[in-house]
Amino acid sequence: MKKFYRLLRSYGVALLGCLFLSATLCVAEEAEGVKGMAEEEFTPTKEVLNVKFVEFDCPKDVTVCSLEKALKDAEGVQVKLQKQDKAFPNGGGSVNAAEVKAVHDGTAIYFQVSWDDATKNAQAIATQEFRDGVALMFPLGKVVVSTDEKFSPRMGDRQKPVNLWHWKADWEADMVASGGIEECPVRYPNMHDDFSTNPHSVNYHKGLMQSAAVLAGGVSAHNLLSMPNRGRTVEDLNAEGFGTLTSQDHQDVNACSKYENSKWTVIFYRLLNSNDPLDVQFVPGESTYFNMAVWNGDKEDRNGQKNISTQWHPLALERIAWQ
Ligand code: CA
Ligand code: CA
Repeated sequence: MKKFYRLLRSYGVALLGCLFLSATLCVAEEAEGVKGMAEEEFTPTKEVLNVKFVEFDCPKDVTVCSLEKALKDAEGVQVKLQKQDKAFPNGGGSVNAAEVKAVHDGTAIYFQVSWDDATKNAQAIATQEFRDGVALMFPLGKVVVSTDEKFSPRMGDRQKPVNLWHWKADWEADMVASGGIEECPVRYPNMHDDFSTNPHSVNYHKGLMQSAAVLAGGVSAHNLLSMPNRGRTVEDLNAEGFGTLTSQDHQDVNACSKYENSKWTVIFYRLLNSNDPLDVQFVPGESTYFNMAVWNGDKEDRNGQKNISTQWHPLALERIAWQ
């Protein structure tokens, strides 16, 4: 025991010094926003998503079926997915691949993403429920991605923002729900609240009952998650690395979906040019990159607990025929 204390006296200061240095290096590395990322994550995949120019009349009723014809000759790329393993809350891993196809008609761009999922999770009302979802991510502006020009394929980096399009299965359900949003009684049909047992509740609580602003903080704050009649199934967001995800004021993306034979098919669509400086803009004849994530509600995926691709995927827009 005495020998141990002698050693501690002799080497303790050096040991503490090493610990301090390691902690400092870790913090510095984290500040760069690339903590623990492998070098190959900064090398885009070789396979390119070719976004074909297709002339077609956009259907009035935009559904997966009505867009099928436009996308039928588009070449798909397979995106390998894995669990998210870098930022808390991490996890996922139940979906290991997705197929992405895309076309444009000179005005709008359409991305079709499909993946196998044995469970349709289109409600997230109860605290123990989580939704299925998929997100596409694009760098903002013109960027080069390489091991020399590092750009995180996870959530972007500080000074290297990304635009994210997050489709949510429960938002799709809200589109057809009465009142424009699925409320608690949809999940709990026999629920009652304190007001309903008061014989004079309507008069007594009139102010409260008629005031969404008082009763629903999310609605009064215009939080998209709480808002009925959003008119869209996709949230348009930005990020500059882990922990910076921010919903946009200018929502520009929509999507339709189909769940059939244990498979989700989601088609995102947006104008090539959205006139929003916080959005990716698509130019026929030019290239950019995309990356993606998938959530499986049945496995309690939410937030950072998801299935991700760890590389950027190049995408190239075909020129318009008469360009
Ligand atoms: Ca699912
Ligand atoms: Ca936008």
